[in-house]
Amino acid sequence: MRILIINSGSSSIKFQLLDMADESVLASGLVERIGEIEGLLQCTTRPGTAQEHKEKFQRRIADHQDGMRLAVSLLTDTEKGVIKDLADIDAIGHRVVHGGEDVRRPTLITDELVAIIERNSPLAPLHNPANLDGIKVARELFPGIPQVAVFDTAFHQSIPARAFLYALPYEMYEQHRIRKYGFHGTSHKFVAGECARLLGKPLEQCNLITIHLGNGCSMTAIEKGLSIDTTLGMTPLEGLVMGTRSGDVDPAIHSFLARNLGMDIEAIDRMLNKDSGLKGLCGMNDMRDIHAAIAQGNEHARLALEVQTYRNRKYIGAYLAVLGRVDALVFTAGIGENDAIVREKSLTGLEQFGIVLDSQANTRRQKGPVKISSADSTVQIWIIPTNEELAIGRESLEVLNNRRLAPGA
Ligand code: ADP
Repeated sequence: MRILIINSGSSSIKFQLLDMADESVLASGLVERIGEIEGLLQCTTRPGTAQEHKEKFQRRIADHQDGMRLAVSLLTDTEKGVIKDLADIDAIGHRVVHGGEDVRRPTLITDELVAIIERNSPLAPLHNPANLDGIKVARELFPGIPQVAVFDTAFHQSIPARAFLYALPYEMYEQHRIRKYGFHGTSHKFVAGECARLLGKPLEQCNLITIHLGNGCSMTAIEKGLSIDTTLGMTPLEGLVMGTRSGDVDPAIHSFLARNLGMDIEAIDRMLNKDSGLKGLCGMNDMRDIHAAIAQGNEHARLALEVQTYRNRKYIGAYLAVLGRVDALVFTAGIGENDAIVREKSLTGLEQFGIVLDSQANTRRQKGPVKISSADSTVQIWIIPTNEELAIGRESLEVLNNRRLAPGA
């Protein structure tokens, strides 16, 4: 079964063709700057093998349809391609950001589901319309091939009302659907599943804290395999300190900025999403640059690291309290997988809660999942690389298999 994974943004399409028989990557690529004067397409076929081939070219890419056609022409290229024609693609899996309260699991794409994604666009105005562009184009280009939508919010639909409600007038929830939804669900679910496998326990028996630290950052409390709380909120701004996003702030700061600095809603929104977080504190949003600056004695960079890792520690404490018993903490994504200092600082002082890091294992560079807790740690600590494309591939496959097994299918 070959599944094409599509992650469509407002001016880009990320794609990956997976062979689900052995979960190998046949091709992966990125179409960028769609609609600009000069677009960019990059594609690697058979990555990591002796036949690996890299293709990169620049030309105008008018729209998503044009971009997708280009990607497909590379995949089916007679010399360097990986498939003969479109019929070699058995299914398509789309990443969709917001399913609101309407979608609890990955779902086969129908006209009805497209309408649901459209209905939830006000909750993710930058993402859902762009995801829909990808879906519309793929349905035109691949008629008859089953397509599945995998939602960032779906895994968090098990969060109970006590955790997803904000203490606002209740009609804000009832009439305007203002509540915590959570994001990065595909990643949290994927690493939770991998962690359960590594612990040798069914996921349904695992209590975990999964910590996704990339450009966007979030933490999830998982009880018996289900998300019961997460740090991102109604939008992907709440919670942890991120690359350019503030995470938690006092909500009264908004009115202070408006009244005293004359900032309008757009400017406040832009500041909190694009100019805050690590970048706001020290001018840099890549953790590697921040470490280099700290080594040069940059005080703002040191503070940015302190603020981020303190917030991480605070939420680990909160989720320990929420869960009671925890089998493992899992670090994932760009910073979580690669940054020993951030991991160590985020766990400082948690020994009395049974969380004891093995500092040698923490600093040793290794690929793949690695356990970094010491033998006397009652809570295991793991680094588990996330793989959202593979997660979407697996979830899509499950939807298709269930459809086949369903009566009357
Ligand atoms: P995204 O949220 O965009 O998917 P990633 O998970 O790829 O992001 O994480 C990107 C971030 O990871 C970078 O901005 C950088 O801060 C961090 N990062 C990547 N590699 C390293 C590394 N070797 N050491 C420390 N931080 C890293």
